[in-house]
Amino acid sequence: MKLIVHGAANEVGRSCIELVTDDSTRFLLDAGIKLSETGTEFPLTVENPSGISAVFVSHAHLDHTGYLPLLDHNGMKCPIFATSPTKALTKILLADAFKIGRLKHQPLGYEEENIEKALSFTRRIKIDDEGSIGKAKFEYFDAGHIPGSSYIHVQVDGKRILYTGDINTNETRLLNGAETDYPKDVDVLITEATYGDREHPPRQNTEKEFLNEAEETIEKGGSVLVPVFAVGRAQEIMLLLSKENLGVPVYLDGMAKEATELLLNYPKSIKNAAELRDAYEKVRFVKGSIQRKNIANKQGIFVTTSGMVTGGPVMDYLSKLGTDPRNSILLTGYQGEHTNGRMLLETGSVFIDGWKTKISANYKQFDFSAHAGQNDLKKLIKGVNPGKLVFNHGDPGAINALHEWADIVDIRSYAPKIGDKITF
Ligand SMILES: [Zn+2]
Ligand SMILES: [Zn+2]
Repeated sequence: MKLIVHGAANEVGRSCIELVTDDSTRFLLDAGIKLSETGTEFPLTVENPSGISAVFVSHAHLDHTGYLPLLDHNGMKCPIFATSPTKALTKILLADAFKIGRLKHQPLGYEEENIEKALSFTRRIKIDDEGSIGKAKFEYFDAGHIPGSSYIHVQVDGKRILYTGDINTNETRLLNGAETDYPKDVDVLITEATYGDREHPPRQNTEKEFLNEAEETIEKGGSVLVPVFAVGRAQEIMLLLSKENLGVPVYLDGMAKEATELLLNYPKSIKNAAELRDAYEKVRFVKGSIQRKNIANKQGIFVTTSGMVTGGPVMDYLSKLGTDPRNSILLTGYQGEHTNGRMLLETGSVFIDGWKTKISANYKQFDFSAHAGQNDLKKLIKGVNPGKLVFNHGDPGAINALHEWADIVDIRSYAPKIGDKITF
């Protein structure tokens, strides 16, 4: 049996691993893309997609699902296994990516209809239920990363493979942490390594600092811009802000609104749906760019997509608020390479409508991560006790740190490059 690494190899983005059995039955673990200022990067081409027997999708984020429509376009016709919230969220995220691609004149290589067609192949799998396809059996477990997210155990030809997708073992305001009663002694564990070289600060400290920063900004007469990921981070920030009264209205804009409404239809996928509904009822919504420009002239807290400042309504707010030093931009997550968010942190400038623009507003990054930290990952690996360990979904530094540790604790591990094949 072998694994072919098509993406997320020493990088965060375009997760896609192919599992090939000895009789050439082929499965995919995720099918994602990588979005950046320079365009969309796809995984290494999966040859003959019509020969794939099934895709196991861990969660809705585009770095795990964005390749599905292109695979459909290229002839893939197999079941795609996903939880119900994952399917519903994937649909809105793919539609949004397509729209942004068109606006930026960066065609994605497929038609809009391929989104609907790809999703029509989705088969629902419930968390903790077992499924089967041909000779393969599989089970999905709660990964605690975003609503609907799962880690996946596949058994085929007497071999057992555990794939973490993106995983968070810590509880947040929105979600319970991942299930930690892992399948043990598997042949191969493929683990994400986003935070493989660092720990997260205690969440309570991060929340406190975030609120202090917002409060100070409001006190000096400024507004607060909070770029968020639509799924997970937007709701986490809403839940946090709903407990405080900072004296100015909180606005929710962009995909974050649609995603929150959708999640309220899947109450079991979140920790406390009543709390989220309550928070949702407290925020104000923004309709279109004219209203956006009006409210941006007044004081407020603007929670909006996209989280890495790569597009969406956040760009309108940025051009309005970015030049006034009284305002603050509070980044709430990981900022990928070649994104405006990373550029802001490193150079103090961003690209707005193609123009490099100096930001005089105050800016700061907060760690509201939905990924396991270094120690959580080590605990997970020890808990699973795999025969072989494969690292993916991490920058080289993060993967190296875990790779070196695995040597010390005597677990055979791989940090594959793109296109590598691992036989086991
Ligand atoms: Zn994710
Ligand atoms: Zn991811």
